[in-house]
This record gives sequence, structure tokens and C-alpha cells, in this order.
Amino acid sequence: MPGEPDLEARGRLIRSLGTLRDMLPGSFVERKRACGRPNCHCADGKNLHSQFQVSVLVEGKPKTFNIPAKRVSKVRQQVAMRHRFDAAAATICGINLRRFLKEKEDQ
Ligand SMILES: [Zn+2]
Repeated sequence: MPGEPDLEARGRLIRSLGTLRDMLPGSFVERKRACGRPNCHCADGKNLHSQFQVSVLVEGKPKTFNIPAKRVSKVRQQVAMRHRFDAAAATICGINLRRFLKEKEDQ
């Protein structure tokens, strides 16, 4: 489609969506907490432990799930994928809206 940069951009975006198939909903949250053991470094109230969580709406209700330490990096990426997906959808809709308005004018 020479001379149709919008369609080329849309095609590239659509083809890139497959890499986002593992996306997760919600927000990635870091909470600081003390574990309660008196001899732990966190007992000073400053050097707290990090607990990573996913905060997500489940059937309209906000839920928070702890992320096991070994999965934090992967889950952070999965939540970011959702943001990339939403951005791609917004761009595609923008392209299609421009095309709709232009075709409407041409009639
Ligand atoms: Zn501790």
C-alpha cells in the first residue's frame, strides 16, 4: 500500500500485538512492610521488606494479590504489556477514526 502510511503503521501495530499475549490487568504495586521478627533488619522501621503486588478489579471489585519474589520481574513486564496494548489500541482507533472522517467527507 504505497502512500498509505497510516495503514502501514496500523499493520505494524496489529502484528506486534502477538508479543503482548501474556499481558496482565491491573497495576503493579510495591508495598514496604515489617515482618515482625525482632532481630530482623526491618525492626528499625526503616529498612523494610518489599512486597510486590498486583492490584486489579475482579468482577468490579478491587483485589490485591501478592507476587512471589521469583515472579516479580515477569509480572512487572506482563502488567506493562497491558499498557502497551492499550496504547496500540488507542493509536489504531485514532487511525481508523481519521479514515472514517475522511471517507465521510469524500461521499
Ligand atoms: Zn523483617
